[in-house]
Amino acid sequence: MTSVFTRIIEREIPADVVYEDEQVIAFRDIAPRAPVHLLVVPKSPDYADVVELAAGDPALLAHLVATADALAREHTGGDFRLVFNTGEGAGQTVFHVHAHLLGSRAGMTEESLGEL
Ligand code: 5GP
Repeated sequence: MTSVFTRIIEREIPADVVYEDEQVIAFRDIAPRAPVHLLVVPKSPDYADVVELAAGDPALLAHLVATADALAREHTGGDFRLVFNTGEGAGQTVFHVHAHLLGSRAGMTEESLGEL
C-alpha cells in the first residue's frame, strides 16, 4: 500500500519540504511536538522501519543520519534528538521508515521528550 510519505514524495499531497536529494526527503511534521520537528524519510518505499533499513541498506541509513545532522545545523543550534518509532506499540503510525528530527534553537531538556 502506498504510504502518505510516498504520496508526499510524489507531490500528490503538499508538504513543507526543507530538503531533498536523490535518496531522502525532509519536511515539517504536520503535528509538531517540538519547536523544530522535521521528518527525514528515505524515498525508497522498501523499508517499513529502521530495523529493516539498517539490515537492508546501512549506507542509506547513514546518509539519513548525516542529512539529519546537516539539517540540525541549519534549523537548531546543531544539537538534536533523532527518534525512530518502531512498531505500533511504540507509536509508529506510518510504516515507511522515517526519523523524527526534534530540536530547538533554545535547546531541549529531558522533560521535553514528550509523546510522539
Ligand atoms: P510515526 O507516528 O509513524 O512515528 O510518525 C508519523 C508522523 O507523520 C507523525 O508525527 C504525523 O504527525 C506525521 N504525519 C502524518 N501524516 C502527515 C502528512 O500528511 N504530512 C506531514 N507533514 N506529516 C504527517
